[in-house]
Amino acid sequence: MEIHDKLDEWLDEVLPEIFEDGRQPTLMEMSDLITRTRQKFMGEWLPIVIREKYVDLLEQEYAPCPHCGKMHRKRFDSAKEFITMQGEGKISRPWFYCPDCEIGYCPLDELLEISRKKTQLDVQKRATKLSAEVTFQRGEDLFQELTGQRISDHCLHETFEAVGAEARIEEVIPSGEKIRQRIEKATRSTWRPILVVASDGAHLPTRPKAPRKGKRGPGQWQEAKGFRIYLMGVDSIIHLAGWHQIQNEEDFGKDLALAASRIPQDRVRIALLGDGADWLWKHMTACFPDGREILDYYHCAEHIHKVGKVQYGEGTLEALEWVESTITRLFFAEVNQVIGGLRRMQPKNETAREEIRKLIGYLQNNRHKIHYRSDRKGGYPIGSGGIESAHKFISHTRLKRSGAWWIKENGNAMLRIRCALYNGTYDRVFDHYKKVHLTQKRVSKLKNG
Ligand SMILES: [Zn+2]
Repeated sequence: MEIHDKLDEWLDEVLPEIFEDGRQPTLMEMSDLITRTRQKFMGEWLPIVIREKYVDLLEQEYAPCPHCGKMHRKRFDSAKEFITMQGEGKISRPWFYCPDCEIGYCPLDELLEISRKKTQLDVQKRATKLSAEVTFQRGEDLFQELTGQRISDHCLHETFEAVGAEARIEEVIPSGEKIRQRIEKATRSTWRPILVVASDGAHLPTRPKAPRKGKRGPGQWQEAKGFRIYLMGVDSIIHLAGWHQIQNEEDFGKDLALAASRIPQDRVRIALLGDGADWLWKHMTACFPDGREILDYYHCAEHIHKVGKVQYGEGTLEALEWVESTITRLFFAEVNQVIGGLRRMQPKNETAREEIRKLIGYLQNNRHKIHYRSDRKGGYPIGSGGIESAHKFISHTRLKRSGAWWIKENGNAMLRIRCALYNGTYDRVFDHYKKVHLTQKRVSKLKNG
């Protein structure tokens, strides 16, 4: 078989360098030599294997149109260069054309699932994962260093956009089956486990799409709205699903409804967590009507601290005492007493007056969500502190770290891919992209005539 010759050829190139008189290469030097030369030879292996394995498809003189089924004669042999994880290769395969349907087709491409791009699906899948973690320039360096294969930052960018554009919430959120399994695993005895739905918003730097000519508009911070859903396991937190997008409140509601539809709500006790923002409560209570509403303790405490600071001075004993006693009262659900106390307060100045007024409104709006002591007793969380920062890291770091201002669509693509990686659904997301990408190929040829 020709492939054995190819292997000999490689060894003939590598071995003399290792066995050269007077040379004593180290393990690292030998390994680097193999990495350096591997791509050239291994890339050529695949075409050889394809030629041996699919000889009848390569010699095919007639093939049916995938659209209408009519037989057509081969037009010519068409060359295709490609890059896989093994390196660069090239094949020549018969190309057919159906004048009725106005499409060109290659039965071998269909069978092999060859991408119309030069980089093939195995590379695209890994490249996208890499781009979700580091900037495209860094990705170019790392990819080459780790694989020996060069992929330009432009190609990484393009691939990421293509995969990200096809990433949908349907695949990013785990299936109902997966969610049910995880709930079952967390269920001990007859006591239903607690499922937490925590929503929040985070501001991300965005900019409008640049027009063909002229300056692009100024950047702005837009709110990424999202949620994460997790189970309170016996001694750990079990992540179920996370989702964030720069989007309006209505779309947030639709997305949360989709996630809610995959949760068997009668199998869990549901806790809803969030700060005081109205938009998130409106949708959380609609999607989880039996959920226990809990005002995030840490957000609530922040508001208390703010009043303590402006009224009594930062770091003073008075401020400390007031904050402590207020928080303790809220812990025991004594919201009315706290509001009464705030009303009796003599504001130190205008700033204090304003902050006190805001805190009263905040507590009035959220009074039915403040019952931390009984939350604790029932095993419910009172804040999402740690999980929240972990999740923010997962969803937002890549967007903020690069220092770039994102076009909304690209930023959202980044959030979708990162959520998929965190949710463990990236394979599903990529499979969906693959399906769309491979059918697009036919459509685009149709357009080109
Ligand atoms: Zn046809």
